[in-house]
Amino acid sequence: PRKELIVVTPTYNRALQAYYLNRLGQVLRLVPPPLVWIVVEMETVSVETAEILMKTGVVYRHLVCAKNSTDVKDRGVHQRNTALEHIEHHKLDGIVYFADDDNIYSLELFESLREISRFGTWPVAMLAQSKNKAILEGPVCNGSEVIGWHTNEKSKRLRRFHVDMSGFAFNSSTILWDPKRWQRPTSNPIRQLDSVKEGFQETTFLEQVVEDENQMEATPPGCSRIMNWHLHLEARELVYPRDGCFRRTLTLF
Ligand code: UDP
Repeated sequence: PRKELIVVTPTYNRALQAYYLNRLGQVLRLVPPPLVWIVVEMETVSVETAEILMKTGVVYRHLVCAKNSTDVKDRGVHQRNTALEHIEHHKLDGIVYFADDDNIYSLELFESLREISRFGTWPVAMLAQSKNKAILEGPVCNGSEVIGWHTNEKSKRLRRFHVDMSGFAFNSSTILWDPKRWQRPTSNPIRQLDSVKEGFQETTFLEQVVEDENQMEATPPGCSRIMNWHLHLEARELVYPRDGCFRRTLTLF
């Protein structure tokens, strides 16, 4: 049987939210089951999101995160933690992947996730905001071994692991809820992302669940393919007009 994929997406209301959720939902729809999409909103479960999720035809769980934060560095952290708690509580068994709503994902990525036995990582393509060029972040691999990291010089010395949130996935039982199968560096298990300094969320989480590169699986072996893109193209200032022609257009239909 195919491994279950547990795709976790924090989302919030902004102009392109519906576009992002539809786009991701349509990719997930093409992934062979079993797959469950855990979508977590901030304060309330919105009707608009519920409608999009229903129409995608993907198996989903629509959660809300009780903890409300306006801190920008908390982006999505509490929502992802809400999903982790849900996965632990219900002992969902599969490969957990944090898929932000605004990234671009290939189908090949989701196929590769099923090859992961405990913890897998791969390079993600992104746009360097200041330099206007594409860069990679994630492992340099030799076969299935992780032997180094692609990174940008700004953070080189500070982070232990140079991984993007969308550049790793892990087995929910061995990492989250089955103590018999934990191989944790610490005896005191922490199963949550921490709202630490921006850019450090991934490495902080990884440091809790793997000891070093030897416990990571290059996914797929060789890491020679780019399977997803994190473009940082967020159009934060964009809003739909509340009145005027937009509303009039709506009433015509
Ligand atoms: N997000 C959220 N609430 C926020 C900010 C972000 O739910 O206040 C979600 C967003 O929808 C996305 C993820 O968190 O799925 C990452 O957000 P963003 O793309 O802004 O982060 P970046 O790409 O800059 O790391």
